[in-house]
Amino acid sequence: MSNTTNLVISESLAAARGRLTDALAAAGRPAEDARLLAVSKTKPAGMIREAWLQGQRDFGENYVQEALAKQTELRDLEDIVWHFIGPLQSNKTREVAEHFTWVHSVDREKIARRLNDQRPDGLGPLNICLQVNISAEPSKSGVMLEELPGLAEAVLSMPALRLRGLMAIPAPAREASAQREPFARLRQALGTLRETFPEAPLDTLSMGMSADLEAAVAEGATLVRLGTAIFGERDRTT
Ligand SMILES: *Cc1c(COP(=O)(O)O)cnc(C)c1O
Repeated sequence: MSNTTNLVISESLAAARGRLTDALAAAGRPAEDARLLAVSKTKPAGMIREAWLQGQRDFGENYVQEALAKQTELRDLEDIVWHFIGPLQSNKTREVAEHFTWVHSVDREKIARRLNDQRPDGLGPLNICLQVNISAEPSKSGVMLEELPGLAEAVLSMPALRLRGLMAIPAPAREASAQREPFARLRQALGTLRETFPEAPLDTLSMGMSADLEAAVAEGATLVRLGTAIFGERDRTT
C-alpha cells in the first residue's frame, strides 16, 4: 500500500465523517446518532485496512466470494464488523450466515429462513435489515411496503435472527426534496413497525449513499452506506 493511497483514504474518510457530522447538525440530531458504513465492494483489502487504521469498523460488501477472500486477508482485524448489503441468492446464504454480522438485503421469507437455520450457534443472532423497494420499481430488489409487516413478523419469529430495521435504495433523484421523499416513507414504515412490534429491537434505518447522504440523515438515517465518497469511483458498474 503506497503512502499516496494512505493519504487519499485518510482524507476521504475524514471528509465523509465531516459530511455526516454536518448533516446531523443541520438536522438538529445528536452527533453520534448515525454512523458510517464503508462500502468496499470491488476495492482491495489494503484499502479496507487503511480505513480500519483510521478507526473505521463497519464495512459493507455485495459479493460473497469477493468478501470472503478479503475477510481471510484481514482476519487479524478482530473488531471489524462485516455487513452484507448485496442481493442474496439461496445458494449463498450459508456463507453469509457464517461470515457476516449484519445482512441489509433480506427481502423474502425463504432467504430469512435459510439464514436463521444456517447461523452457527456460537456466533449469536445475525442482525437483519429488511430491504424495502421504496420507490416501487418493477424488477428491483426489496419487499413492497404492503408486504413488509408480514415479512417482519416472520423474521421476528426466527431465533437466530435479530430484526434491527429497514434498508432502501431509492430511485436516483437530483433535487434534495425529491431525495428526501422516499427516505421519509422508509422512516414512517419503521415507525409503523415499531408500533406494531413494540418489543422488537428496531433501531436502524440503513439509508443514504454518497449522492444522497444529507437527504437520508435529514430523514433519520442511522447507518449511511458510503462507497465512492470513501474509496473513490468503482471500475465496474454495480
Ligand atoms: C454500492 C452500494 C452503496 C455505496 O454506493 P456509493 O454511491 O458508492 O456510495 C451503498 N449501498 C449499496 C446497497 C450498494 O450496493
